[in-house]
Amino acid sequence: MGHKKTALKPAAARGCDEEFMRRAIGLARVALERGDIPVGSVVVREGRIVAQGIEGVRSEKDFTAHAELRAVQEACRNLATRDLEGCELYTTAEPCFMCSFVIRSAHISRVIMGKAVPHIGGVSSKHPILIDAGIPNWPPPPVVVRGVLENECNELFNR
Ligand SMILES: [Zn+2]
Repeated sequence: MGHKKTALKPAAARGCDEEFMRRAIGLARVALERGDIPVGSVVVREGRIVAQGIEGVRSEKDFTAHAELRAVQEACRNLATRDLEGCELYTTAEPCFMCSFVIRSAHISRVIMGKAVPHIGGVSSKHPILIDAGIPNWPPPPVVVRGVLENECNELFNR
């Protein structure tokens, strides 16, 4: 089995999606505790977590310190590649435009998200760049699964 989309079956089961989303929620709580907005992300390959990211815009004073971006950076480092085809990204909140760019550039095959972010999200906003298949010279969009543990992910923002 290569890293083609057909190799994604194991973690595609709903139970696994919730398990990995719970890991992302744990990371979001870490962000919350240090005063950042509660977003956490994990990258999974072949059913195993290969990288994680914790939101840090406020604590690190860095606008690019989004959980998804950090997770993709770490995955590229850990796997020593810029090509993350076959990888899945779990994130507690819908990826923003910046992170959508990074996710697509890295060829992530599947994105599983919790809370929707309709104003600047790459899926549900007016500019759905994460899922737009019509952008020239870009790889096909990832498969996107919305609303996994959505209540728990929304809840993080209500504290
Ligand atoms: Zn982002």
